Amino acid sequence: MAIDRDTTNWTFETDVVVVGSGGCGLTAAIAAAQSGVEALVFEKQNRPWSNTARSGGMIPAAGTRFQRAAGIEEGPEDLAQDIFRKNHGSSDPEITRHLARVAPQMVEWLVDDVGVDLVFVDDFKYPGHSQYRMHAPPSRTGGALVADLRRAVEAHPLTELITGASVINLVAGSDDEVLGVVVEHGTRIERVRTRKIILACNGFAGNPEMVAEYCPAMIDALYFGGEGNTGEGILWGMELGAAVAFMDAFQAHASVATPHGILITYALIMEGGFQVNSVGKRFGNESSGYSEHALEVLAQPGGVAWDIYDRRLHLLGLNFDDYRQAVEAGAIRQADTIEDLALELRLPATTLAQTLADYQNCAAGERVGPFGRLDCRRLEGPFYGVKVTGALFHTQGGLLVDNEGRVLKKDGSPIPNLYAGGGVAAGLSGHGAGGYFSGNGLLTALGYGILAGRHASQSIKNEAGA
Ligand SMILES: Cc1cc2nc3c(=O)[nH]c(=O)nc-3n(C[C@H](O)[C@H](O)[C@H](O)COP(=O)(O)OP(=O)(O)OC[C@H]3O[C@@H](n4cnc5c(N)ncnc54)[C@H](O)[C@@H]3O)c2cc1C
Repeated sequence: MAIDRDTTNWTFETDVVVVGSGGCGLTAAIAAAQSGVEALVFEKQNRPWSNTARSGGMIPAAGTRFQRAAGIEEGPEDLAQDIFRKNHGSSDPEITRHLARVAPQMVEWLVDDVGVDLVFVDDFKYPGHSQYRMHAPPSRTGGALVADLRRAVEAHPLTELITGASVINLVAGSDDEVLGVVVEHGTRIERVRTRKIILACNGFAGNPEMVAEYCPAMIDALYFGGEGNTGEGILWGMELGAAVAFMDAFQAHASVATPHGILITYALIMEGGFQVNSVGKRFGNESSGYSEHALEVLAQPGGVAWDIYDRRLHLLGLNFDDYRQAVEAGAIRQADTIEDLALELRLPATTLAQTLADYQNCAAGERVGPFGRLDCRRLEGPFYGVKVTGALFHTQGGLLVDNEGRVLKKDGSPIPNLYAGGGVAAGLSGHGAGGYFSGNGLLTALGYGILAGRHASQSIKNEAGA
């Protein structure tokens, strides 16, 4: 739909409109309101089930007081270096370092000033993390993170969240300055005049046409993110002349229980589990990264694999709400011997036993595994297994923004009044599936949320005083 150019006809006015009520949108609204301006969040879903709500709620930050209390001394540059290592140096160095520097303040702000319940995670590391640095709700669910953020939005007198209200267009003036939004709310169409707009409506993983155009490898994969993420924020920005980057970037995941559709934490793999295909053989280096490894899972017969692990890892999994749901749903199978587990999983017993024996040799350091995995760990019966598939979680390309979250034109100048964060903005994951570093999703969602919310509020005050 072409950008709406009717700048005269308004239903009502507000200071800041936020499009989308995931992590980026809720954080932006709270940050703006805490700085003294009114912020209205429009959410298209009646019962929002955003990616943030579906996530593991793992927020990376190097240099928090929680990390120091756990005896770990590191700083933002260490996080930035890990991100660069994973994306082969392809993310914007200034933006990457800026978000890494914002991260510790952001985590402490969420806990101290927003009331989000976060704990430090020090029982497993995600691929590519050289240190423990994740902060998550005790349940390790994004649902708990969103519930705390919503409570803060509902409690603040300057913020309001309106659900079932889809922003269907932006309104812009003759210089492409954004002046308002058009909102479909039930049977009503409202035209809302606003001073600043923050696009927090994620990327395009829920839009099959855009996935086919930009990330064709994932067109047939299970989509495991929110239905609301259909890419309009990026399309509006492009129509206003915004620059875009990394449109082929996405995060996939190699371990979603099938047919149950429940995320099986990758902690099981990172701490020693492995995957086999339907003939009972390993097919890649599982710990290289769950995003790129998802493509290998999808390339196996039937596009499926089985996570194989032991009781120690099963107990680790029980720390995650999702995993407990998978146990309750009957997705997790268990047996005293690997041969009996093979029967449970309907895998060829002799081949699976041989695969385990080879893996144990690698774990004992007797030889390097066929796929170069160096962190194999000995598994002890009883053994566990779960059938999984590879899934698309979200896209990582989008509008180019500056250090404040302002959307930039191709000439580098900002589009007046327009901000973007989270999945709408170009991410830190380089190209394709392999550059995604665990935590890049919430780092860019919450990080740009705070930056955009604060900057929008400050600009409104500056303009009022000018
Ligand atoms: C299963 C899963 C696990 C993950 N785990 C982690 C993790 O542990 N750590 C991490 O860093 N990342 C994780 N990620 C990635 C992370 O969830 C996302 O990168 C992040 O949540 C994106 O936040 P967002 O605010 O940009 O988008 P979202 O949280 O998806 O919010 C966007 C909202 O905008 C709404 N919306 C869209 N269009 C409109 C419109 N036109 N009008 C009004 N509303 C609209 C949508 O309905 C949605 O509610 C995970 C992703 C998945 C799928």
